[in-house]
Amino acid sequence: MKYSEMFRIKRGDKTRLSKIDPAFTDGLADTVAVANRIKKHTERLHDLQYSLFAEGKRSLLICLQGLDAAGKDGTIVHVMGAMDPQGTRVCAFKVPSLDETNHDFLWRIEKQVPAKGEVVIFNRSHYEDVVVVRVHKIVPEAVWSRRYALINNFEKGLVANGTLVLKFYLHISSEEQLNRFQERLDDPMRHWKISESDYEERKYWKEYTKAYDDALRNTSTRHSPWYVIPSNNKWFRNLAISQIVVEQLESLKMKLPKPQVDMNEIRRKYHQALVEEEGKGN
Ligand code: AMP
Ligand code: MG
Repeated sequence: MKYSEMFRIKRGDKTRLSKIDPAFTDGLADTVAVANRIKKHTERLHDLQYSLFAEGKRSLLICLQGLDAAGKDGTIVHVMGAMDPQGTRVCAFKVPSLDETNHDFLWRIEKQVPAKGEVVIFNRSHYEDVVVVRVHKIVPEAVWSRRYALINNFEKGLVANGTLVLKFYLHISSEEQLNRFQERLDDPMRHWKISESDYEERKYWKEYTKAYDDALRNTSTRHSPWYVIPSNNKWFRNLAISQIVVEQLESLKMKLPKPQVDMNEIRRKYHQALVEEEGKGN
């Protein structure tokens, strides 16, 4: 079964995150067992992004959401690492600035969507505006509840304009989050990543889960579905996401642009003449 099928939240699906196992690995044992598959996906991702860029007609937007330490940064390294920096961009959305709060919530998002030929990854996204703002009551329900429809319309517009929109929710368990905090505490290289707010936010686990359940249910559409990725194991998360990106980019059936000039003529009339001239010079 394609991973695009296996992990997609279908429209109208009432699945809850609590029913999805974050430790699922599809029967695969460990990182060694998937090394070859990951290598193949990495090569395919490279070629597919090359085609997307060369074709210059369509674009790819990947939205990453998940709780603290769910693996958003690691996913970006894995997926973007396979691609040519020319034609790719990462955009992280933090607490909105005053200027951003003074505009509609999609204002800062719209400015960052990919141009034709481009791949953009959102590290957090407009989904913060129906999740964190709900959990912390930053805006009233009457405001955030209306945003699902606004988001669906916005994404529908992107898709109609040739953007492939892939939304991944990185699903980890509460125990795994604590393990990862521990790793950050133990590793001086990662101390900068940990803060009190990470521990504060854990107190809202239930509220976050409920907000995500509703967001996934209300915004998983035919044109831009959500994929819930079991992410307790980083190697499985990387396998699943790279595989879905490959499957979905392949479905675009991209073609490299046809040459603008007659190759035979270029070879004969221009190139060969120069080669002969160089030969004479020696
Ligand atoms: P990090 O991704 O760890 O660098 O943290 C970014 C922080 O910004 C997270 O705590 C997010 O919840 C917060 N954030 C992102 N977007 C919004 C938003 N629209 N409203 C409020 N907080 C946000
Ligand atoms: Mg954080």
